[in-house]
Amino acid sequence: MRRWSIPVIDIFGIHFRIHFSFPLMFCLVWILEAGHGPNVGYCSFMLMLLIFFAVVMHELGHILVAARNGIKVRSVVLLPIAGIALLDEQAQRGLDARREIRIALAGPAVNLLLAALVGSSILIFHPQWQLFGFPWLTPFNLPRSLVWAQIFVGALNLLPAYPLDGGRILRAVLASNGDQITATRRAVSIGQFFSLALFFSGGAVFLGSDSNNLWIMMAGVFLFLAAQLEDRSMILQAVLERVHVRDVMITDFITLSPAETLSDALQRPMDPPQEEFPVVRGTDMVGVISRQQMADCMEAEGNGYVQSAMRHEYLVAGPQESLAAVLRRIGRSGLAMIPVVEGDYLIGIITFQNLMRKLTALSLRRTTPKPSAPNAPAAPQQ
Ligand SMILES: [Zn+2]
Repeated sequence: MRRWSIPVIDIFGIHFRIHFSFPLMFCLVWILEAGHGPNVGYCSFMLMLLIFFAVVMHELGHILVAARNGIKVRSVVLLPIAGIALLDEQAQRGLDARREIRIALAGPAVNLLLAALVGSSILIFHPQWQLFGFPWLTPFNLPRSLVWAQIFVGALNLLPAYPLDGGRILRAVLASNGDQITATRRAVSIGQFFSLALFFSGGAVFLGSDSNNLWIMMAGVFLFLAAQLEDRSMILQAVLERVHVRDVMITDFITLSPAETLSDALQRPMDPPQEEFPVVRGTDMVGVISRQQMADCMEAEGNGYVQSAMRHEYLVAGPQESLAAVLRRIGRSGLAMIPVVEGDYLIGIITFQNLMRKLTALSLRRTTPKPSAPNAPAAPQQ
């Protein structure tokens, strides 16, 4: 998503970016309206600004309600139909369904409220602007377009098409009685269906009728574009952010004692084979060591104790942490194993191999959708 957008401004620590489809829309409007009146370029630009204004107000609604719920928005990417607000990753982990729905509803609510305010003012003070005249969105009646741009952006975002707000609400509802991964995947497929449906229904009606349908068709294109662009990075990201360490950690693993000799440790029968080991004294974790390290140490210095060969510095993960956070940490540290601790207790480990297996399983599940297992573990909600 970032690759297709340019940074514009930082306000209150929130990075605002504009998606390339905004200038694209401007060109489309210009081309479409070229034969319809004078100053087409100027009027099209103003219409684009009105839609931009609607999207910005929409995002402000999300940002304010998120802030009221103690959640920080990290960055916002503005598209012609909606913005994508990326929440602070720390906050996202603790986001429950009720708060997610509240934040998702805030954007469309602002649009519909503004539309009602401006619309009623027009009806009372300037009825000659013909609020309900066709086409609703046109560069040649900007006050009317101001109202309809708000309705358009607000209503469109309520469609149950992930990554739009309606889709987020749908996902939150699905996830509250199933697992997060299945819920996200299902919400994404419904989103793709909707974008195609919008595109073709807009296109079909357009053939016989006015330019309102063209807007619907364009919305379909942008939604499709957004869903496609989001598909890999954002969906995987959404999955990774929502899968918790607890869901993927290995709980059946072998620990070594610091007083064990290297040859004893290496000769231990292991099924399944394990390459990396937490070293535990009593109930305290004191280090980590890999099979390779032990073998190297034995070759260099002869048989010694685990204590002298182990690494004392290591990272730990909490069971509620997201997979995304842990993946970043593994990447940075070059570690192949991360112990999972709860309080002072070692409750599991995450290894690079088991993470890769899990990710492969996730991507396979994405390409060959199958009904979720009835006893799939639900991701714990905080
Ligand atoms: Zn929104």
